[in-house]
Amino acid sequence: MTAPTPARGFTTAILHSDRDSPIEHGALHKPLHVSVAYAYKDAHDLAAVFQGRQPGHVYGRQGNPTTAALETKVTAMEGGVATVSFATGMAAIGAIMLTLTRAGDHVVASRYLFGNTASLFQTLEAHGGDVTFVDATDAAAVEAAVTPRTRLVFVETIANPRTQVADLAGIGEVCARHGLVYVVDNTMTSPWLFRPSTVGASLVVNALTKYIGGHGNALGGSVTDTGLFDWTRYPAIHDAYKGANPKLWAVTQIRKKGLRDWGGTLSAEQAHHLSAGAETLALRMDRQCANALALARCLAAHPSVRAVHYPGLPTHAQHERARTLFRAAGALMSFELADGVDPFAFLNRLRVVVLSSNLGDNRTLAIPVAQTIFWEMGRERREAMGIAESLIRVSVGIEDEADLIADVERALG
Ligand SMILES: *Cc1c(COP(=O)(O)O)cnc(C)c1O
Repeated sequence: MTAPTPARGFTTAILHSDRDSPIEHGALHKPLHVSVAYAYKDAHDLAAVFQGRQPGHVYGRQGNPTTAALETKVTAMEGGVATVSFATGMAAIGAIMLTLTRAGDHVVASRYLFGNTASLFQTLEAHGGDVTFVDATDAAAVEAAVTPRTRLVFVETIANPRTQVADLAGIGEVCARHGLVYVVDNTMTSPWLFRPSTVGASLVVNALTKYIGGHGNALGGSVTDTGLFDWTRYPAIHDAYKGANPKLWAVTQIRKKGLRDWGGTLSAEQAHHLSAGAETLALRMDRQCANALALARCLAAHPSVRAVHYPGLPTHAQHERARTLFRAAGALMSFELADGVDPFAFLNRLRVVVLSSNLGDNRTLAIPVAQTIFWEMGRERREAMGIAESLIRVSVGIEDEADLIADVERALG
């Protein structure tokens, strides 16, 4: 669904978004639409909706009014022109790759990627895709990898788990110079900390599962078109999706080919959970970022800790970049314990912090990285990604700061 950027504050716009369009019975939340199919009294209307000449819904695999209401909110949050939602963040990323690249195309991707996204790119390579992984903290490394066949560049804002900050503005200039689609996965920052449209991103991915939903009770993903890329110059758009407004060509193709062909559709129930969660995104993230900075400072000062990776610390390699680009340095960090301190014993002593693999939850979650989420890829690739065997990742929640600090200090001993 498309939406103009409202001239209201971030949170006000999310809270009142559903009431901007006619809403059933005056309900303050967009109701849950669970119908699979949608009927029309006039066959001309049915045909017009099918052909994209008229807005409307036909079959639930391509969305429903409840997911559309969430899409409108994400579009407003990102300041984009349109959003397509998916059942998960991975479905959103997969849909971009499968619908916008073709055999023979080349993709440049960050070497520091969410593990499952790295796995997806490996799967694409197994199907003939051509991906070059580069150090995205350096725009020159991205530019050096560009070939005449390069179509798309994929980066994350703050990498998980080592928190490298990509040279987002520099890569935006590289993409503009070479006419490349610039995809930014904004999950770690969320549109509250950072809008990728400000650095020239073409498409923005959000794993709604994380900070936007925030409560760890629903999966979802989204792709937002910022309106900055000129799709009339892109070869892989099917003629059927070239409507009057070229800014909508790519999202139409992503919805049609991505949802229709691959079917990773967000359900109305999950969309409702995510929409309700999104209302407090700014409040939660402010608190999470403040907690994270306090925790990072506490860890950095502790003799049992060897290194802390958090962009909010002046010791971080991209601290200045993070300060310039982001409202705050995020709520995810990782750290290495000093030699002789057993990471598993430390984790087992935590009482407030939960041992879990998710991130972006209201609760603070910790996990030993090499033995869990990055286990499958093996030691060699972990080393290439800068992941120490003793690395612990923490996704900081909204607990009272004193409880969090006390819990970690007690566990450190
Ligand atoms: C979690 C995550 C995803 C995938 O989201 P899911 O909803 O779990 O599929 C993608 N990118 C990043 C950066 C993530 O943290």
